[in-house]
Amino acid sequence: MNKTDVEKYKAMLEAKQAELAAGLRNREDIAIEKTPDEVQLAGERELAIRNLDRESSLLRNIRGALARIADGSYGVCLHCDEEIKAKRLDAVPWTKYCITCQEAADRHEFDGEGENIDELLAA
Ligand SMILES: [Zn+2]
Repeated sequence: MNKTDVEKYKAMLEAKQAELAAGLRNREDIAIEKTPDEVQLAGERELAIRNLDRESSLLRNIRGALARIADGSYGVCLHCDEEIKAKRLDAVPWTKYCITCQEAADRHEFDGEGENIDELLAA
């Protein structure tokens, strides 16, 4: 992967990271707002927490990818050491695995991390 590509993915990762950070801040504001309907509040809080969990795992992946950019190992599958295809990185720049390994991880064929939720978020 050349320097231009790395810069491109770095910019994509940083943009997504900023977007998620802004989203988390907005949600904190919403949570502070008082609503008289406690039942609704409980439901909303639960939903917010679930979203938070999902986003923090995405943020973790983004931070991991940025760290791999920093140490020069970005774009290589963490499972099989093959280069990850550009098309895949364009869609999911924070991915850790090539598509073959990702599919295997999604099927729990090795102790990798599933990514289906992140794929949806990326869409
Ligand atoms: Zn792989």
